[in-house]
Amino acid sequence: MINLLDFNKTGLIHFCEEMGEKPYRARQLLRWVHQSGKTEFMEMSDLAKTFRQKLIECAVVHPPEIISDHTAGDGTRKWLLSTGTGNAVEMVFIPEPNRGTLCVSSQVGCALACSFCSTGRQGFNRNLSVAEIIGQLWWANRLLEARVSESSSPDAAQIRADNTDTRRPVTNVVMMGMGEPLANFENVVTALDLMLSDDAYGLSRRRVTVSTSGLVPVLDRLRERCPVALAVSLHAPNDALRDQLVPINKKYPIRDLLAACERYLSAAPRDFITFEYVMLKGVNDSIALAHELVQVVRNIPCKLNLIPFNTFAGSGYERSSADAINNFRDVLMQAGIVTTVRKTRGDDIAAACGQLAGQVKDKTRRTGTCGSVRAVVIG
Ligand code: SAH
Ligand code: SF4
Repeated sequence: MINLLDFNKTGLIHFCEEMGEKPYRARQLLRWVHQSGKTEFMEMSDLAKTFRQKLIECAVVHPPEIISDHTAGDGTRKWLLSTGTGNAVEMVFIPEPNRGTLCVSSQVGCALACSFCSTGRQGFNRNLSVAEIIGQLWWANRLLEARVSESSSPDAAQIRADNTDTRRPVTNVVMMGMGEPLANFENVVTALDLMLSDDAYGLSRRRVTVSTSGLVPVLDRLRERCPVALAVSLHAPNDALRDQLVPINKKYPIRDLLAACERYLSAAPRDFITFEYVMLKGVNDSIALAHELVQVVRNIPCKLNLIPFNTFAGSGYERSSADAINNFRDVLMQAGIVTTVRKTRGDDIAAACGQLAGQVKDKTRRTGTCGSVRAVVIG
């Protein structure tokens, strides 16, 4: 059976043609599947009965299965999605007064093994399919619909006011869940197409952010194919330190990464890159490193986002103190770099950055050789 959630508009046009149908059917299907959230072909009332019958015989609309749903004290909501054979990934919704952000996963685990990241510690199992990536947004809109349309809170009113379609609570998507999006390029960009398509989710390029640890050649492909907003996980101002924290730096060192960022900006919808910098106590949070960071990024239009480290069992790291984070931020701000400190959201349900665990059976050679690989069962 063909899962229609695996297709962007181009793919659906091909599919319709193969079925002997006119290309405009693709647009109708997109709207039924992504905007109305229908999974039953018989309900797609403006499609010819014969076409519906053909669809029933060869296709499905099959989003990933949801296996748990938790809401944190601050309203952050986390769902665990089954990816089969005992594995799962997480998606997180972060409600804010004037927007609703969905943090989307791209892989089951991650092979890049950043030393401070819970997902990285678990190893890699597989890439998510397009259906599993876009299925997260599909689900979030369905599951949150009621929250927005029924609630009379000022927040909900604001979300409604900002959103042309009142039934769409997700106004922003960040590819900052489990996995490295650029290591699953084809599936991620096909899902991005759907996020941006007016016949599906209609988000503007500025409201969709890909976060990467810095796969330089793929960054260039993203620039050519689908230049959405870009966040780059820098975390250190020099190669010696970044090699330890983000091992992919040994292959694509800071200099190459920054050159790719400059190339990206030539095509990007935004005129700046967001650099993410996790604040690790005594590791990368000194004033001297803040000054070094200023020198490194000064020629690139950018914003700095400092992320207080979110701890997890056996991480071996600690979060920088509030004073250390503020002092670090002040150095950057005084140098004229717009710097924000990310609010830690949902950490009482382990939904904060880098705490996303899911359940990952490592398929890489690190299985069994690394004591830190863990499978977390979230009840
Ligand atoms: N693989 C991508 C996107 C997923 S991680 C990337 O690395 O950019 C999203 C962000 O959370 C990245 O900046 C990542 O470095 C950061 N992160 C990972 N583990 C973290 C932790 N334990 N605490 C805080 N931030 C973390
Ligand atoms: Fe992978 Fe990103 Fe975690 Fe690094 S920080 S291990 S790239 S998910």
